[in-house]
Amino acid sequence: MNLSIQQQLSLRPYNSLAVDVAARYFVTVESLPQLQAALAWAKQQDVAVFLLGGGSNLVLTADVDALVIYIQLRGIALLSEDAESAVIEVQAGENWHAFVQWSLARGFSGLENLSLIPGHVGAAPVQNIGAYGVEVKDHLESVLVYDRETEQTQRLSAAQCQFAYRDSLFKRESGRRVILSVTFNLPKQASLQLDYGDLRGYLARQQIVQPQPQDVSRAVCEIRAQKLPDPQQLANTGSFFKNPVISAEQAQQLQKNHPNLISFVQADGQVKLAAGWLIDQAGWKGVRQGDAGVHAKQALVLVNYGTATGQQILQLAADIQADIQQRYGVALEIEPNVIA
Ligand SMILES: Cc1cc2nc3c(=O)[nH]c(=O)nc-3n(C[C@H](O)[C@H](O)[C@H](O)COP(=O)(O)OP(=O)(O)OC[C@H]3O[C@@H](n4cnc5c(N)ncnc54)[C@H](O)[C@@H]3O)c2cc1C
Repeated sequence: MNLSIQQQLSLRPYNSLAVDVAARYFVTVESLPQLQAALAWAKQQDVAVFLLGGGSNLVLTADVDALVIYIQLRGIALLSEDAESAVIEVQAGENWHAFVQWSLARGFSGLENLSLIPGHVGAAPVQNIGAYGVEVKDHLESVLVYDRETEQTQRLSAAQCQFAYRDSLFKRESGRRVILSVTFNLPKQASLQLDYGDLRGYLARQQIVQPQPQDVSRAVCEIRAQKLPDPQQLANTGSFFKNPVISAEQAQQLQKNHPNLISFVQADGQVKLAAGWLIDQAGWKGVRQGDAGVHAKQALVLVNYGTATGQQILQLAADIQADIQQRYGVALEIEPNVIA
């Protein structure tokens, strides 16, 4: 099989934080045989492998001493459909938001709250993407992977993927399984998730009394466009920290000292805090260290104004983490994948 392997390719156009590091080797794969050939080549050359999707959840801290495999398997197939739902298999290289719009246009609901999340379908299960009270696991039926250890393809059920908040088997055993496609089961009768105040407020302002999934998608897109910087305009990797989950006792204590604390009680009694609120209250919004900065409108987003390195972004993150730990006794965990 003929593979076009490039050397010392800048990854700047391939990561939304626009960090300028080089891939030692880079190859685009559009099929399973190409993927297998690329993996075999890396094994033969004794070089590591790094799987790349849309690059919107990465902090690249140095040149990537590996074969970067850019997953470009494409295609959307409607596998079955009845009065209630549709089963759809989507190849890993499809754009996530384009697929959400594809499903809504055909009357399939469930993914409307996940509109406008950057990246590819294949990476969506990796951190179990979520927004506005919905996670990709909620409508995911199975994931087809190529397991690099067994050198076999395997179909994993949603339960086997071990999804959790911004976490999955794929993130925990990073790099072992290459996601080839994701199969969704999408309902035709929408059961909309409108618990978020922003969403309800937007729909009320638009005087939409009985919203349809398309309305919710439009609302999500507009709210996101107002709140989050577009990586094409200002390089970023979305939320830089996970929302921390703390004990009910600690939350009560914090509430005493900070009556405006934003918190959400979880099913298990623990309490999730809004990381953005903590960072904002601590005065970090708009702070800049060289070309690494905290976004002026959204404290949860770190941005690259031009030439920031991954290390500089991480230094800023470390300063924020130390400050939040000291002020609130809360540990902030970095959300994107840090690639050393
Ligand atoms: C402006 C902005 C807003 C965002 N908003 C949200 C949000 O609301 N909710 C949310 O959850 N996330 C959000 N994100 C993060 C990001 O969009 C998601 O994590 C997305 O799923 C990443 O997809 P990607 O294709 O860009 O993955 P990449 O960044 O390319 O890769 C992410 C990880 O997945 C691995 N990977 C990629 N493809 C495969 C594959 N086929 N098989 C196995 N492993 C693979 C990579 O090795 C890497 O470890 C946001 C990012 C930005 C820039």
